Amino acid sequence: LSVGQLEEARRALDGPLFADVAGDADVSFEFFPPKTDKMEAAMWEAVQTLAPLGPRFVSVTYGAGGTTRDRTHGTVARIARETSVPAAAHLTCVEASRDEVDAVAREYWAAGVRHIVALRGDPPTLGDKFVPHPEGYASAADLVAGLKRLHPFEISVAAYPEAHPEAASASADIDNLKRKLDAGATRALTQFFFEPETFFRFRDAAAAAGIGAEIVPGILPVSNFAQTQKFAGMCGAAIPDWMGRLFDGLDAHPAARQLVAATIAGELCRRLYAGGVRHFHFYTLNRAELSYAICHLLGLRPKAEETRAAA
Ligand code: FAD
Repeated sequence: LSVGQLEEARRALDGPLFADVAGDADVSFEFFPPKTDKMEAAMWEAVQTLAPLGPRFVSVTYGAGGTTRDRTHGTVARIARETSVPAAAHLTCVEASRDEVDAVAREYWAAGVRHIVALRGDPPTLGDKFVPHPEGYASAADLVAGLKRLHPFEISVAAYPEAHPEAASASADIDNLKRKLDAGATRALTQFFFEPETFFRFRDAAAAAGIGAEIVPGILPVSNFAQTQKFAGMCGAAIPDWMGRLFDGLDAHPAARQLVAATIAGELCRRLYAGGVRHFHFYTLNRAELSYAICHLLGLRPKAEETRAAA
């Protein structure tokens, strides 16, 4: 950031709530493949609510060890077919041979999907150590290179502002991110975090390591605090003490909890915006309302064309 931009950022931080937000942010939304018809209906309602905001893309996760292969494919294909939003498919290489992974990627290409979120993945049993498949891709960087050899996919990869739990060090993890981008990925989507400084420090460290690609903060609007604590423990994301205090005593007050959740995530996004962020990736958990509210605070409004398509 230049001195001018820093001044601008400071003014935005001190200024009135969201007054400096110009509606110029891009967003993307992440969903997980639903397990039941009821979950499918809920997810689809969320997609239709969020699609009119004109996201850059929506992505669909891939279950641990490839367990949702068909459901991920079905969900991505439906989004591609029934909305005008570009759909991205997550793909992991854990517990699969190169041929198996390549076959899934080829199916995506044939179905018109041009964007893959390429990940190593984790073993299906929690706590097991990752061991590459003997005939598989050894890491996400390896997978990115493999996908690029197949087709000219647009590829996003994962990044960890608080370092991946298995990384030898924060700088080794940034070297790994650089390898993934050098192998052909276009952007990094981050693990969730709750302090804007965590993201800014990471962005600075990545820039110092020569990374010029877009690093998109992953935003998890938290309404289930206990579940988030569990997730965060598994992926090495810190939960600040103030967050526990804010959710304390709200278990029996779901509406108040939602308002607190929107305030926390909205404030995080406002401060990221003030620091120059113009693309936010939302972990929607297949629900629209919190992500929609935060996008609204960021100045996004439904676009007529996408609204018609979603209807
Ligand atoms: P990698 O980039 O391969 O890194 C894994 C670890 O190995 C890191 O610690 C890295 O530093 C280290 N490493 C890699 N190569 C080297 C090397 N050559 N030398 C030294 N160290 C190395 N999981 C799913 O199962 N399905 C999903 O859909 C999914 N979506 C995700 C989306 C996002 C935005 C994020 C942030 C994560 C997602 N994950 C998903 C989780 C992800 O699969 C796990 O975090 C996994 O443990 C690591 O995947 P990766 O792609 O970051 O791996």
